[in-house]
Amino acid sequence: MKLLVTFSRRKGYEPIIAKAVKETGVLIRVDRAHIDSSGGEVLIDVPEESCRLVSEKMGSLGATVKILEHPVVRDEDECVDCGACISICPREVFTFDGEWRLAMEVEKCVLCGKCIDACPHDALSQQVPG
Ligand code: SF4
Ligand code: SF4
Repeated sequence: MKLLVTFSRRKGYEPIIAKAVKETGVLIRVDRAHIDSSGGEVLIDVPEESCRLVSEKMGSLGATVKILEHPVVRDEDECVDCGACISICPREVFTFDGEWRLAMEVEKCVLCGKCIDACPHDALSQQVPG
């Protein structure tokens, strides 16, 4: 399960991810990170059963956590199964199934956004974190 974690460094340099791993015992995979002197946004992947535990722990450490159940969403009415997203995706999220229809493994997605820009039918969008 993907979690989008944002945090500010105005309150100090709390090692949020390291603390969450240590205090929950859950192994966290970092898929993508943008961190600078003022704060950061990190996309992490955790086992589904640990999602709530990690989210609450990071929240208690001062981070804002959004659960992304479907990081990239496909509008099936707009998709024409052209395959343009297959070649552009660095994580092989997209494949064709046996009937040449587009299939997705969204758990591999790192939210780079390349497929959204490449789709000629605007069929792909990023889930708005809720
Ligand atoms: S690029 Fe867009 S229209 Fe083409 S297969 Fe992918 S989602 Fe469908
Ligand atoms: S956002 Fe990036 S990693 Fe995710 S499906 Fe699109 S191209 Fe692949």
